[in-house]
Amino acid sequence: MADGNSAHSPTDEPADPELRAVPTPTQELADPELRDKPTLIIGAGPAGLTAAYLLTKQGLPVIVFEAEDQVGGIAKTEVRDGPGGKYRFDLGGHRFFTKVQEVDDLWHEIMREEFLKRPRMSRIYWRKRFLDYPLRGADVIKKLGPVELTRCMASYAWVKIRPKGREDTFEQWVINRFGKRLFDNFFRSYTEKVWGVPVSEIRADWAAQRIKGLSFFSAAKAAFFGNKGDEIKTLIGEFHYPRYGPGQMWETMTDDIQRLGGKVLMNTPVTKLEIEGSRCVRVHTPDEVYEAANVISSLPLRNTVGMAEPRPKPEVIAAAKGLRYRDFLTVSLVLDGEDLFPDNWIYIHEPDVEVGRIQNFRSWSPWMVPDDSKACVGLEY
Ligand SMILES: Cc1cc2nc3c(=O)[nH]c(=O)nc-3n(C[C@H](O)[C@H](O)[C@H](O)COP(=O)(O)OP(=O)(O)OC[C@H]3O[C@@H](n4cnc5c(N)ncnc54)[C@H](O)[C@@H]3O)c2cc1C
Repeated sequence: MADGNSAHSPTDEPADPELRAVPTPTQELADPELRDKPTLIIGAGPAGLTAAYLLTKQGLPVIVFEAEDQVGGIAKTEVRDGPGGKYRFDLGGHRFFTKVQEVDDLWHEIMREEFLKRPRMSRIYWRKRFLDYPLRGADVIKKLGPVELTRCMASYAWVKIRPKGREDTFEQWVINRFGKRLFDNFFRSYTEKVWGVPVSEIRADWAAQRIKGLSFFSAAKAAFFGNKGDEIKTLIGEFHYPRYGPGQMWETMTDDIQRLGGKVLMNTPVTKLEIEGSRCVRVHTPDEVYEAANVISSLPLRNTVGMAEPRPKPEVIAAAKGLRYRDFLTVSLVLDGEDLFPDNWIYIHEPDVEVGRIQNFRSWSPWMVPDDSKACVGLEY
């Protein structure tokens, strides 16, 4: 195992799932009416399972419907047999990082010693050079060089003197805070690769939420003095990760839901939601109709609205259909030889290359790759 790649876990060996204690039910008293019929939850991704777990802990009857044969939604772990054992792939790279204590406590309650604390290492590939990310002052000066650095500073100074009047789009918002040169170098192509739309079509309020806390000066400060206290969320230096990938969180949560008396029905797509007044009262699957105390749908709004009967008003259907989603493709490769790089992932800012990010799964958790003579990468499109 390469240096810096070892698991930072309290135990060296995986915990035996058989020895796992049943979770403790909470003492909070739930509304007695919720005990007569089950709460029906659509989708066994992180949202649906978390809702189911919290309700079953209160002793409430719950049924989760999952269309696929695996839990975890887009945060599942894909597993394939290969030389030396099971290869595990994350559909992307799922960092478990939150500033909400309640959420952090919940993740630890589920994963316990299987929740590894992982160091973050990532770089930006730009103009055939690798820049450390989070940025480091000395590295930026060296890699950008005096000419490009001067251009970036001048472009920043210019926008401070003459800011763009309107801030409707992502492009205008970022240029006003970083200057056009930095925007063209480091924001434009990667953002377009990730979101699949031109930066001029992304709204400014999304940028404000997404890059919250990051400004020219905070980035420069973090580059020279460090991101103290993980002030800037995109620059965090450590994160948690389940030993066997993100899906382990949701598989373990599913076991706990079932031990607490809840049901998780696999290969059971919901096909229709029966609405009476303003409430969903029944849920249809291909084989059965279920009466509900309450219904929680974790599906994309477009799908939830599309299944409602009677049909919602035309303007509601049109609004739901108008929501756009981004297709995402990850190509996972098992390669002969050592890891190609030590990073968890590398951002590919080169505009002439279509791939957006390359993951190195062993750096996320060494338990993802069973054979030391193989490397596993995920290419995101
Ligand atoms: C590349 C990438 C990287 C990411 N990185 C991070 C990260 O670092 N940290 C982080 O916190 N988040 C990350 N995310 C986001 C995270 O994956 C999602 O926020 C999370 O999975 C959403 O969970 P969900 O339960 O709302 O939906 P989903 O995960 O989409 O789950 C919905 C579930 O509903 C099921 N379903 C669909 N239709 C039906 C039906 N008709 N009947 C029954 N079941 C149905 C689906 O099969 C699925 O299992 C990343 C996402 C991507 C794509």
